[in-house]
Amino acid sequence: MSKIMSSKKKIEELDRKFMWHPFTQMREWEEVEPLIITEGRGVFIKDVTGKWYMDGVSSLWVNVHGHRKAEIDLAIKDQVDRISHSTLLGLTHPLAAVLAEKIVKISPAGASRVFYSDSGSTAVEIGLKMAYQYWQHKQQADRTKFIYLGNSYHGDTIGAVSVGGIDLFHKTFSHLLFESYRSPSPYCYRCELGKKYPSCKMGCLKAMEGILRRHHKEIAAVILEPLVQGAGGIITFPAGYLKGVRQLCTKYKLLMIADEVATGIGRTGKMFACEHEGVSPDILCMAKGLTGGYLPLAATVTTEKIYKAFLGNYKDLKTFFHGHTYTGNQLACAAAIANLDVMKKEQTIRRMQKKVRILQSELQKISAFKYVGEVRQMGLMAGIELVKDKETREPFALEEKTAIKVCLRAREKGLIIRPLGNVVVLMPPLGISVEELKSLGSITAEALMEITA
Ligand SMILES: *Cc1c(COP(=O)(O)O)cnc(C)c1O
Repeated sequence: MSKIMSSKKKIEELDRKFMWHPFTQMREWEEVEPLIITEGRGVFIKDVTGKWYMDGVSSLWVNVHGHRKAEIDLAIKDQVDRISHSTLLGLTHPLAAVLAEKIVKISPAGASRVFYSDSGSTAVEIGLKMAYQYWQHKQQADRTKFIYLGNSYHGDTIGAVSVGGIDLFHKTFSHLLFESYRSPSPYCYRCELGKKYPSCKMGCLKAMEGILRRHHKEIAAVILEPLVQGAGGIITFPAGYLKGVRQLCTKYKLLMIADEVATGIGRTGKMFACEHEGVSPDILCMAKGLTGGYLPLAATVTTEKIYKAFLGNYKDLKTFFHGHTYTGNQLACAAAIANLDVMKKEQTIRRMQKKVRILQSELQKISAFKYVGEVRQMGLMAGIELVKDKETREPFALEEKTAIKVCLRAREKGLIIRPLGNVVVLMPPLGISVEELKSLGSITAEALMEITA
């Protein structure tokens, strides 16, 4: 292995010749020198030439305590010595059972059953299908549709794309998708209803109620990312919106699916974003941070009420016919247990509160910059929306690639961050130190200043 890693040129050649990267224009990729990561430690990752970078996006929003967290490393190594994978179809194993209890205990009130899978997208597919089938068992088979929000992102599989609200990613596939109702995104900085918060009294919520009033009998569930729309550009909700959606779901007697794939496992400053507004969803999806950023594992958590609706004799065909081959993989479960145990032992969530405030003050400085339209933050998730004109909020054209340039400049300065359109995203591991966080802020500020100067 070390021989493979030592040859930078060879890896570049193999990558260019054989690989196809996600969310990447490969023509551009082929033209630039790829950054080849070979090692990690704490919040830093090292490239093949020996240069270290700060991992400012938690390796795409998954890492919790930093890389090579001793307890998680050990848990996986230990498990490798027993067994790495067995199936949950017809068998079970201790780690899946122990982890299920832990997941239920950290989830919002009402959660009681854990259905495992292996990615955020699968967790969402399971949530959608579970909600859909639930209504069939409840003799309300007309409830076949979903409400989703503009700017929402729930993954890249077809079901998840059907409830996705980002045209750039989703429009190409429109003919493949099932029909759903789109409710306006609570994106106050660019309100699609042309209103102003708070005088709007959350018109976006009223718009959802409008859809419900007309169509509630055909709707199975509302799906949303609670409190923050991540891939949509770190869009933070006005206070009370999430709770308002919960109240609408209750009022019209349909299910609420909370996609906490990005926001869950502490990212927003509580274990789950739903807690900020005392909301209990009927179905909750988690993935990214569940294993501390080590291995693919997801869980779709639901209530006893929904679980019970699927019970019956085999011939009743109430079984939930869904499952992924690597569902509840033993190594991934071992990592997740160690991750949650470390969070408890180190009081990760309590200790991150101070860091949330530091990030806030770093962002405050940045918000004054000429080309920064808005900074948004929830916990250790932050987005800096760049604009061509601060007064009119005119966005930079896509082809100007302003946010991309800012991220590349940051990389030269030893910080890995990634843009979403015109938004520069900061999402450090929760275990980042105060000093490291300040350096994340100052490098981002420098890169912004230099690119927009
Ligand atoms: C990342 C993400 C997903 C998809 O997760 P994958 O593991 O990439 O399939 C779904 N929902 C949200 C909110 C996400 O941020």
